[in-house]
Amino acid sequence: MIQGAHAEIIDADVVIVGGGPAGCSAALALKGSGKKVLLVDKAVFPREKTCGDSIPAYALIGLENISPGIYDSFLQKVQSVSFRSSALVFPNASQIEFTWPLPGYVTERQIFDAFLLDRVIEMTDTQVITGLKVVNYQRVEAFIRLNTQTRDGTLGAEIITPLVIAADGAPSLAARRLAGISPDPVVYGQAVRCYFEGVEGIDPRLELIFYHPRFFPGYFWMFPMTGGRVNAGFGMPEKHRRKTGASLVDLFQQFREQHPVARRMLENACQVSEIRGGIVPFAMKKQVWSGPGFMLTGDAGSLVDPVSGDGIMYAVRSGLLAGLAAKIGRESLYGKQVEKLLWNRMKSQRRAIRLMTCFPFLISVAAWFGRFAWFRTGIHRWIW
Ligand SMILES: Cc1cc2nc3c(=O)[nH]c(=O)nc-3n(C[C@H](O)[C@H](O)[C@H](O)COP(=O)(O)OP(=O)(O)OC[C@H]3O[C@@H](n4cnc5c(N)ncnc54)[C@H](O)[C@@H]3O)c2cc1C
Repeated sequence: MIQGAHAEIIDADVVIVGGGPAGCSAALALKGSGKKVLLVDKAVFPREKTCGDSIPAYALIGLENISPGIYDSFLQKVQSVSFRSSALVFPNASQIEFTWPLPGYVTERQIFDAFLLDRVIEMTDTQVITGLKVVNYQRVEAFIRLNTQTRDGTLGAEIITPLVIAADGAPSLAARRLAGISPDPVVYGQAVRCYFEGVEGIDPRLELIFYHPRFFPGYFWMFPMTGGRVNAGFGMPEKHRRKTGASLVDLFQQFREQHPVARRMLENACQVSEIRGGIVPFAMKKQVWSGPGFMLTGDAGSLVDPVSGDGIMYAVRSGLLAGLAAKIGRESLYGKQVEKLLWNRMKSQRRAIRLMTCFPFLISVAAWFGRFAWFRTGIHRWIW
């Protein structure tokens, strides 16, 4: 791995911009392709990533299919809390609990993402350059020229490639420059999170998602972590946040005060980190995912589940699809595959969120019916 790369010209068959789950998955999928693959990331790893830190098993299974042994390696090397169920918690203290067929894991993204990038370095011939930010994309005939900057602000290497896999998260400069797509406040969300210690009544096998009709479609979460810490956060679609006139941090504080269960659990807890936030690009609006010389993956392709806020699994899956498409030289297939395998799969989630947003009283109805197993099973099947 190289840190930074000063003014020079680098060429590659495929350039992956971003070394998060989407970028690393693309690099792993390109293993053995015989192509010269370059991955660049503006950060130096391990780097912090604001997240709920909840990693579904399906993300790891996707990686395992392409890189056998990676799941075991994750279990051995990455300290995490494993959960089997998630519960929706309503203000009247009723809960709808879902048990997942496979366990999920909560671990700091800083650790998980560094683990993935290390696997890319260990298992593939990808050239990895960290501390190098892509600041511009220019088309030059059949190629794309990437201008970069090092961490000290000086001019970085110029990169020339016929194919960019954009895995630069949200908002994505690659999506804007190569596909003309900017984050749309009608569909994207924002979320904030911080860490707590001493949360009362937390069960390490259970992720909690709190709903309150007053804040819907926003929601609050508490995910148990190692060492008794809890990742707590609040997320909301941006267009609804704007209507409240409050900042997301204010809404986070108001929610924890106004939801009786969250308030009780956090009453004596100690906040051990600052509150940090980020964009959550929900998959609410159909878009372009590939075009001449580019593929948009993960958050750069707005592939986040609009109900659960789960983006890591979709980042991994889209990264794998992009890597495989690049490997066989069929980049034009990628957009169709994303539509069929990822976008269409989130149809029920989009319907559910639209319905609940139009009729927020349905939250109270769900809270009441949540006591019946048939209702919980029905909701689970409908949405996921
Ligand atoms: C508060 C919050 C909580 C969330 N909670 C969860 C959760 O619990 N579970 C879940 O599944 N999802 C969650 N998500 C969504 C999840 O974080 C994202 O969907 C996921 O990180 C997307 O992965 P990615 O690889 O596409 O992008 P990222 O993980 O954002 O990685 C992008 C990478 O690109 C690099 N980069 C960016 N710009 C450039 C540039 N110009 N040049 C070079 N490198 C660049 C960045 O440094 C970064 O390493 C949450 C999001 C937020 C904001």
